[in-house]
Amino acid sequence: MSSDHFRALILHRDEHGKTRHTLQDLSRSDLPDGDVLIKIAYSSLNYKDGLAVTGAGPVVRHWPMVPGIDMAGEVVESQNETYRPGDRVVLTGWGLGELHWGGYSQYQRVRSDWLVPLPEGLSYRDAMGIGTAGFTAMLCVMALEDGGLTPAAQHPILVTGASGGVGSVAVALLAKLGFRVIAVTGSLSSHAYLRTLGAGDIVSREEMAREPRPLEKQRWSGAIDAVGGTMLARVLAETDYGGTVAACGLAGDSSLPTSVMPFILRNIRLQGIDSVACPTPRRALAWQRLATDLPREHLESMIEVYPLDDVPRLSRAILRGEIRGRAVIDVNG
Ligand code: NDP
Repeated sequence: MSSDHFRALILHRDEHGKTRHTLQDLSRSDLPDGDVLIKIAYSSLNYKDGLAVTGAGPVVRHWPMVPGIDMAGEVVESQNETYRPGDRVVLTGWGLGELHWGGYSQYQRVRSDWLVPLPEGLSYRDAMGIGTAGFTAMLCVMALEDGGLTPAAQHPILVTGASGGVGSVAVALLAKLGFRVIAVTGSLSSHAYLRTLGAGDIVSREEMAREPRPLEKQRWSGAIDAVGGTMLARVLAETDYGGTVAACGLAGDSSLPTSVMPFILRNIRLQGIDSVACPTPRRALAWQRLATDLPREHLESMIEVYPLDDVPRLSRAILRGEIRGRAVIDVNG
């Protein structure tokens, strides 16, 4: 493989508007504009990639598209003085795999101002074990801290969609930082896994998905929600006075069937998290913290590595909620 002959997964839209995928040989001249050329080592599979590759959601906004919303690899060419050949970098967001060709390719050309230098101590595999989902989990933790939450809080922190990518990293991070963590899962087989990551207890998805009254008994000092819908409404109704809920996902539902009551009577702060356009200084800080705050043995227990050929099958699986932890894609495997 060289930068003049390499493999990539490409999405096309057929004449009926259906998404089709092919594994294709590309050359450097096929790549989009950008001031750095990256030799990609790993990408990862996130919920949004599942939507893009299967065509189940309107993620792709430019055709044809190389999907993959993140990547880790080495700079091989640079027209920007900040980066030199050999530099190790990580890239998440900025429309990768949506507007700009993404990580399911052995080479990619991107904008240098999207890159973050790979923090000391993280391998490319670690970086994509964390990936967009883990980076988002860190942004959620930082939002709870910004809301004044400390491990001395009266009640534990709730994490929904806990066996998924965002949820797994959020549980492990919060536990390492000293918070008491309760995990919500619909996956019975993940209970032991979540306890190993640091969950003090498990609440069933069914219990949290019951429609709440406008306010319920206060049970959580804060929460990280990757699910949305009725579950987020229940989380808001059960959060302590003054607590923060970091909402980042809609794996269950994009609706929010709540009322103003949690906000005006309990002073709840609902903090939306967007990893795509997160400002560069906060992005770099989040990656630095991931390198130090996420226990490496927990990260290792979340990771499964798959070759590029497995992406279509995995994309269907992640939408069915069947991927536990983080699916890392070895684009050279
Ligand atoms: P995963 O598929 O890995 O995890 C989602 C988890 O949610 C599943 O593992 C499952 O956990 C739970 N779940 C799935 N379906 C349902 C359902 N119908 N009802 C209730 N729970 C369900 O996805 P990710 O962790 O990668 O992403 C989670 C969400 O966060 C997605 O909506 C994604 O788009 C969003 N996201 C947002 C980002 C942002 O910047 N705001 C960045 C990254 C992700 P369990 O079996 O344990 O219940």
